[in-house]
Amino acid sequence: MGFREELGEIYDIDLKTDEPMKKHTTIGLGGAADYYTEIKSLYSLNRAVTLARRYRVPVKIIGSGSNLLVSDDGFHGLVISTKRLSDVFGKKDGVMAMCGATLASLVGFAAKNRLTGLEALCGIPGTVGGAVVQNAGAFGVSVGDFVVSVETLKRGKLFRYDAEECGFGYRKSRFKKSGETIVSATFALKNGKLTDINNKISEYTKKRRSSQPPDKNCGSVFVNPKGGYAGELIERAGLKGFRSGGAAISFKHANFIVTSSSATATDVYNLIQYIKKTVKDKFGVTLKEEVEFIGEF
Ligand SMILES: Cc1cc2nc3c(=O)[nH]c(=O)nc-3n(C[C@H](O)[C@H](O)[C@H](O)COP(=O)(O)OP(=O)(O)OC[C@H]3O[C@@H](n4cnc5c(N)ncnc54)[C@H](O)[C@@H]3O)c2cc1C
Repeated sequence: MGFREELGEIYDIDLKTDEPMKKHTTIGLGGAADYYTEIKSLYSLNRAVTLARRYRVPVKIIGSGSNLLVSDDGFHGLVISTKRLSDVFGKKDGVMAMCGATLASLVGFAAKNRLTGLEALCGIPGTVGGAVVQNAGAFGVSVGDFVVSVETLKRGKLFRYDAEECGFGYRKSRFKKSGETIVSATFALKNGKLTDINNKISEYTKKRRSSQPPDKNCGSVFVNPKGGYAGELIERAGLKGFRSGGAAISFKHANFIVTSSSATATDVYNLIQYIKKTVKDKFGVTLKEEVEFIGEF
C-alpha cells in the first residue's frame, strides 16, 4: 500500500485528490492540492500527519484559508482543513474553542452566554487555530489578549501552553514556526450585558464594512511597519487602483488586493512584489507580507 491507500483507510478521513484550493481560500484563487481532507477527529488528524511524515509528504494545516495565497500550480502534498473541528464549550476558567471554530461562532457563543471581550474580533473571517497562530487582531485588541491556554498536537503528543508561553506579539506567536497543530484554545472573558455586547458587535461590523472592500480578498496583504501603516504608504506611493492582470489594489483600502474573475494567484503575487519594490524605492521601507504564500511562486 502507498500513502494514498493508507490515508484513505483512516476512519472518517473523507479524502479528496486534486482538490482546487480556490474553493478553500477567501480570495478564491489557487491550484489543486494533491490530497485534501476536512478532518473530523483528533485521532484522524494525528494519523494523517503521522502517515504524511512517514511518507515524507508535505502537510499544510488550514482553517478558513483567509490569510493564504496558494500558487496556481497548487500544493504538492496534503492539505488538512480543521473547519469541522468546530465545537465551542463553556468551562470553569472561560470559553474553550476547538481549532476549527470560526471567530464569529466563538464571539456568538460568548454573546449568548453574556461574556464580553472578543467583540472587536467578530468580523475576522478566520478560525481559532489560524487566529492563534497569527495572533489576529483588530481595533486595538488581539486574540492573544484573551488566551488562557492553547493546546497543540505535535508528533503524536498533546501539549498545553499558558498564555505567557505562547510568545504573542503583533501578528506573531510561537506557533508560527513550531510546526505544532493548534487543537484548541481557552479564552478568559468577563461578564457583560447582552445589549452592550450586541451593540459592540454591530458597531465593529459597521466600522469594518465602511473601511474594507466587499470583494474576495485575503485580508491585509502586509503587516504594518513600525510606527506606520502599510496602507498609508501604498496610498502615498500613488498605487491605489494599480492592476496586475486581474488583481488590483483596492480603492477602498490600499492594503487590500481585490480580484476580478480572470485573476490568477500569479497576478496577486506579482502585484505584491510590485508594491514592495515601489514602497521601498519611494520611502526606503521594506514591507513584510501578512498573507502567506503556499506552493511555488
Ligand atoms: C476580509 C478579511 C478581513 C480580515 N481582517 C483581519 C483583521 O482584522 N485582523 C487580522 O489579524 N486578520 C485579518 N484577516 C486575516 C485572517 O482572517 C486572519 O489571519 C485569520 O486569523 C486567519 O485564520 P484562518 O483560519 O483563515 O487561517 P488560514 O488562513 O487557514 O491559515 C493561516 C496560517 O495559520 C495556520 N493554521 C491555521 N489553523 C491552524 C491550526 N489549527 N494549527 C496550526 N496552524 C494553523 C496555517 O497553516 C497558516 O500558516 C482578514 C482576512 C480577510 C479575508
